[in-house]
Amino acid sequence: MRFEISKVLDAIEGRVCTDPLLARAVLDLAEVIRYQDLDGGRPASLLRLGMVIDALSRELEEDSVQVYAVVHRALLSDADLTSNERMVVRRWADDGLVEVLDNPGDRMLEVADLLGLPVLSRVRFDGLRGRFPWLVEQPGRVLAPVPGAGGPVFIAHVGGGHSPVAGKRSQTGAKLLARQWHCPESGCALFGSGGGGGAFADLAPAAERSPAGQPPPALRNGVPTCPRHGVRLGDAGPRPRTEVLAVRVGGLVRRRFVVSEEQPVVAGRAPEQDGGIMLGQWLNDEARRWISRGHVRFELRVGEVIVTDVSTNGSGIRPGGSMAESDRVPLAPQQSRVLGENDMVELYPGVQIGRAEELPTGAPFTPTSVMAEAPTMAMRLPRP
Ligand SMILES: [Zn+2]
Repeated sequence: MRFEISKVLDAIEGRVCTDPLLARAVLDLAEVIRYQDLDGGRPASLLRLGMVIDALSRELEEDSVQVYAVVHRALLSDADLTSNERMVVRRWADDGLVEVLDNPGDRMLEVADLLGLPVLSRVRFDGLRGRFPWLVEQPGRVLAPVPGAGGPVFIAHVGGGHSPVAGKRSQTGAKLLARQWHCPESGCALFGSGGGGGAFADLAPAAERSPAGQPPPALRNGVPTCPRHGVRLGDAGPRPRTEVLAVRVGGLVRRRFVVSEEQPVVAGRAPEQDGGIMLGQWLNDEARRWISRGHVRFELRVGEVIVTDVSTNGSGIRPGGSMAESDRVPLAPQQSRVLGENDMVELYPGVQIGRAEELPTGAPFTPTSVMAEAPTMAMRLPRP
């Protein structure tokens, strides 16, 4: 049983991030883990985070969605969690996957404001509606996860409805995210790698984050500040340009990934490169035979996404996303092409990659549960 739970927690780990390009909603971990009515179980359980992430996946009709979690520091030693759960949360904190704060205050709303993300919370925030007008003006920006027949469902705080609504990045958010930032505290998990390496760059942990994925700084009196350490952040230059791409297999968006100017990305059945996008788990036998371990490479050059076929069998381009066979343009092995705004590259029939916002889910959606490995205890629905 303990082993099973560890596997679920590992799966959930893949769904928490502080990356402004990949996070789809923001939540307060300390709040979510205490939604006892979701499963009728222990006072606090990290598995409830998985239940809420699954609910978000269902609402967005997309697999592998990630959430931005703020975490009160007290949670790292919360006696209501199991020692295993506390250890997992500490690991997430050390890796910068969650944002640990001495006093979260309104940081969750600040992140939502800067990034334009929906908030998953039961808190009403009545006193903050002046500062964050979208709390009332945009129904669906704040959703309360509540028990439902097949797991948690969402209820909007204003305007009814249940679908998460993303806003626009605020102007301040856009300005902050145009720069990369450096925290003077050594080993800062959130803003530690923006300073350009230095003498010990080679000793940096393997999980060193790209500056393209740095979280939004906190603003204290207008000054960009490390939310964790409360100190002023140094400006470490312009942030690399990025593009968010998505993988669609069998009509379902399976995951998103980021290509930055500094970091090309290879996608394929099982790429050997660091940061490669592995597709094998979503492929049938025929597709697995056709698609090479590393099949296509994406680069970002002067704002253009360049796709290069690095496979044995080649790929195709679907210009403008057209699914008509007559429109498909072959992309031979070693051939490169600029990926136009709505273009998709097709590695094999039904396996496509394109810009995330241009690649909607096109089939009835059954998301893969992050809780697939969960023991029945965690999945038990509340008694009536
Ligand atoms: Zn810091």
